[in-house]
Formats: sequence, C-alpha cells, structure tokens
Amino acid sequence: MNFHVMTLFPELIQGAASQSILGRAENKGIISVEAVNIRDYSTDMKHHHVDDYPYGGGAGMLMQAEPIYRCYEDLTEKIGHRARVVYLTPQGRVFDQQMAREFAEEEDLVFLCGHYEGVDERVIEMIVTDCVSIGDYVLTGGELPSLVMIDAISRMVPGVLSGDSAEIESFHDNLLEYPQYTRPEEFMGRKVPEILLSGHHANIEKWRREKRIERTLEVRPDLLCKANLSKNDLKYLRKLKEEKKKEEENNE
Ligand code: SAM
Repeated sequence: MNFHVMTLFPELIQGAASQSILGRAENKGIISVEAVNIRDYSTDMKHHHVDDYPYGGGAGMLMQAEPIYRCYEDLTEKIGHRARVVYLTPQGRVFDQQMAREFAEEEDLVFLCGHYEGVDERVIEMIVTDCVSIGDYVLTGGELPSLVMIDAISRMVPGVLSGDSAEIESFHDNLLEYPQYTRPEEFMGRKVPEILLSGHHANIEKWRREKRIERTLEVRPDLLCKANLSKNDLKYLRKLKEEKKKEEENNE
C-alpha cells in the first residue's frame, strides 16, 4: 500500500514513518510513505508563499487552493490514477478501527495536511473524497493526524504485523483487549493471575473473553451494543451489571 502525504512539513512525516514497525514494513516493500512538499508548487517564485488572508476578514491565514491543486495533479500523474484523497480536519468523520480496515483495502491513499486556519474550501470540493478527524480537539496541522491514520491503517495491511496480533487487539469485535502480563511472575508484591500460569488453554480463553467484556463495560460501554456477543457473553454481562448495581446500592 502506498501513502502519499501532501504537506508543508515533509521531514515530520518521513522522520516518523521511517521508525519501528512502519519503517520495517517500508524496508520490506509492504508499504511506502512519500511526503510531497506543497511549497514546491507555490506560484510565488520569490518567497514560496502558500498562504494568504481569508476573504471577509478574521483571524489567521489560509492555505491557498492553487499550490495544493498543482501538487495533487502532479501526484496523480505519478500514481497513474485518481486515488482517494483524505483531508485531515476537525470537521471530518471521526477516525476509528473500522475506517482503518476500510482504507487498508486501497492501493494508494493521498493525505492533505492543512495548516494555519485551514485550506481554501474550493480545493477541498475539487479533490477531496474523505474528510477525517482524529478527535474532537484542534491541532496546529494535519501532519500528526495523517501519521496516526497511516499507523493504524498499515497495521491492517497483510504482512505488516507478525501473526494475528491485530485480531486480538482492542476494538476487534468492538471489545477492548484483556489485560496482559510478562515476566517476572511477581512484581512488587503483585502476582500474575494464577489462571495464566495454569497452561489450561480453554480456561485461559474464557478468562480473557470475560476480562474483555469487563473492561469494555467499565470504560467503553458504548461499544458493547455493537459487539458480537454469544449467549454466554450476555449471561456474564448480566452478572457484571447486577454486581455493579449491588455495589452502588451498598455505597448509598
Ligand atoms: N480552522 C479550522 C477549524 O476550526 O476547523 C482548524 C484549523 S487547524 C488549526 C489546522 C489544520 O490542522 C487543519 O486544517 C487540519 O488539517 C489539522 N487538524 C487540526 N485538528 C485536527 C483534528 N482533530 N483532526 C484532523 N486534523 C486536524
């Protein structure tokens, strides 16, 4: 899968994408991350400006349509087809694991990183296929959001992760992951749950499933209505809710 990032800060993208799991996936040729500098497409030959004041007044500067459009056209010619273009914006659909899975089906994905007060609306209308936000807060630029997306999407691309680790992680099945432990067996008086040392695989699986349900109920109950729960899961969930209710009554 090829990621193409239109940005004013290409070093930020290349630096982060060349590290760790992403860097290894790129070295193996499973993914590629290319950052294209929008400033190279400025029509201002002297200062390479790419921003200007907003019509109608107001605070800050806006990225101009033309350098972005020229950058996109050049990129499209290199890619050889019109790929999906994601504009990172706090006004977009909020990114989640399901979207990561969906974007991972693409061969090429283009990101447009805004800066300053954002981007001239006309170029968004002309080239953008998806407006995506990484959460309800405002950042200074789209570079970190695009890296967040590239990271999450890459993990869904076959061969990037070893084994089936994406299958057991949080949000798979709309349940959070179970707690995990590694050596030593005891750390500052805290012991690893006995069951994980038992070697009894069926009991370990049952314990892990229950912990996933327990944890999701505790911190992300909104996910449970989308989770695929078996009869046993639902029975366990009812038991947890009853226990919680009793505890709350006792505390009153
Ligand atoms: N004036 C814009 C608004 O109120 O919607 C915010 C502009 S923000 C300071 C500059 C750029 O950062 C945006 O164009 C976008 O690319 C990026 N950005 C900021 N917050 C973001 C978020 N939560 N998700 C995705 N991109 C974000």
